[in-house]
Amino acid sequence: MSTGKINVTADNIFPIIKKFLYSDHEIFLRELISNAVDATTKLKQLSRMGEAQGELGDLTIQIEIDEENKQLRIIDKGVGMTAEEVDQYINQLAFSGAEDFLKKYEGKLDGADIIGHFGLGFYSAFMVSSKVEIITRSYKAEANEAVHWTCEGNPEFTLDTVEKAERGTEIILNIAEDSEEFLKESRIGELLDKYAKFMQVPVQFGTREETVKEGEGDDAVETKVTVPHIVNNTEPAWTKSPADLKDEDYAQFYRELYPMSFEQPLFHIHLNVDYPFDLTGVLFFPSIKPNMEIQKNKIQLYQSQVFVTDHVEGIVPDFLTLLHGVIDSKDIPLNVSRSYLQNDHNVRKISSHITKKVADKLEELFKADREDFAQKWNDIKVIIEYGMLSEEKFFDRAKKFALMVNTKEEKFTIDEYIEKVGENQVNKNGETVILYTANPEAQHGFIAKAQAKGYDVVVLDSPLTSHYIQKLESSYEKLKFARVDADTIDKLIEKEENNVSVLSEKQLEDLKSAMEENVNKAKFNVRLENMDSSELPLTITVPEFMRRMKEMQATGGGGMFMGDLPETYELIVNTNHPLASRILDTEGDERGTLIRNATDLAMLQQNLLHGEALTNFIQRSVDNL
Ligand code: ADP
Ligand code: MG
Repeated sequence: MSTGKINVTADNIFPIIKKFLYSDHEIFLRELISNAVDATTKLKQLSRMGEAQGELGDLTIQIEIDEENKQLRIIDKGVGMTAEEVDQYINQLAFSGAEDFLKKYEGKLDGADIIGHFGLGFYSAFMVSSKVEIITRSYKAEANEAVHWTCEGNPEFTLDTVEKAERGTEIILNIAEDSEEFLKESRIGELLDKYAKFMQVPVQFGTREETVKEGEGDDAVETKVTVPHIVNNTEPAWTKSPADLKDEDYAQFYRELYPMSFEQPLFHIHLNVDYPFDLTGVLFFPSIKPNMEIQKNKIQLYQSQVFVTDHVEGIVPDFLTLLHGVIDSKDIPLNVSRSYLQNDHNVRKISSHITKKVADKLEELFKADREDFAQKWNDIKVIIEYGMLSEEKFFDRAKKFALMVNTKEEKFTIDEYIEKVGENQVNKNGETVILYTANPEAQHGFIAKAQAKGYDVVVLDSPLTSHYIQKLESSYEKLKFARVDADTIDKLIEKEENNVSVLSEKQLEDLKSAMEENVNKAKFNVRLENMDSSELPLTITVPEFMRRMKEMQATGGGGMFMGDLPETYELIVNTNHPLASRILDTEGDERGTLIRNATDLAMLQQNLLHGEALTNFIQRSVDNL
């Protein structure tokens, strides 16, 4: 037996491992299993090249809990290590450069940073162990010749020869007192499901019961058999060629990925690139209804089938975090912190590539089957609008297939729609005005008025609408959006010709002051308009600008600070309606009641009359029956 000192200049590295890595203790298991996977894949490669002789046999990796001895063991049948290799890879390499690094960043690090910088991979075992042992026999070794390395979480190690019948490595963790959770079957099972679910080599964790049915019908006999419990699928959908997969395979993969989800994704995007960087994956478009709670099925990031994280914010563009699925890339560093990942050159290239792929796929769906795309529009528009708002490149692509849906449920691209409404909806300044409603039910009266004029109305009801139309207005020349209830229809699309009033100048002045004396002036801005006598006598509107600012403030990023805007409305009086003349003909209380009733009716139309005001209005109306 020999003993030695691990080549580490910073003597206190072990306490540092424990302290810094506190929050990520569980990742030791991922590190050790991925080492076992690496060793196994290496062996397979050597065998293919004719450098490892003979049959490889079963290569399944074993995870064993030994509660009695408080051990957790990770056993592989991979390449193994010779004594020299243990010295080289475990004793020497571990902390080269560690001292400089620790001095530089002392106190500013989270655990993942350290792990990432040094491939502390194997040493993460000390986060949960009082003593770590390696028993390993290289594929190169003579029969039974193996090494036994031990270390108790200090710079001293022991190295010994032992007998080991099989090729490969056994890592024995003597679990520390404060880490006994890692001796629980349920905890390890949970970690295997999280980190090893799609690893490339089969991983066995104990056994499980399986029911097998023999015979048919009444003669059928069910028997229980014990089979190895393999925790992973070594060939998940994203590793296969899209040509070999059917829709059902993707649906099956979705269930495998999110067993707790009952939703069905709308469609998928299979990412498959090997140049200029390596990227595979399958992304699913979920159905996102406006006002629906965002689903918690997150995108998972893998490196060569090893789970890295499901916090992909900053790694994929923000709007794509609403998608589900898997991204896998060899070029993503396995165990670095998120801030490091976000600044990584490859990660940024991957991110813009994914954006492009998503745009490609959407465009392809749109072109191949527009009908089908249009049907899905309602469920995907939030993601697309979000993308158009946040990524200029995506906007340029998506404006070709982003749809406008009118109140008759006809669907147009933006360009098609501008063409459809044509000259009819161009105002006197040469701007095309797109009339929209956020709620066809609530704004029915306004929509009817617009349609009576021969105008078309689109439905824009996503939570991003106010931002979205702002973006469209700034990207298209001479394009304006106006909500149908933002003003009287003649003002929304202002043309040259104007109606004249049947009232004289003097009467108009009297009418205005009569109105102002009888309504709350802080709430209503009275405005006289010479409209058609068939239009309503009074209309209440919320100016487009005000409402949009408020909405944008509510959803964030309005760009302008408006404080708490007071609730104010435009109260538009149609001077050509007979009611205007009647108001002028009445006096005192009678005039007051007339104006109040007419105003309440206008409030009702905008669904603004509530509570006591509504009760009083109904009572007054009943009294007048
Ligand atoms: P990395 O995996 O990034 O190289 P690790 O600290 O995880 O860093 O492992 C260090 C080295 O130890 C590996 O590169 C490998 O050479 C060796 N090693 C670790 N585990 C095994 C194993 N199970 N079988 C064979 N070699 C191993
Ligand atoms: Mg490793």
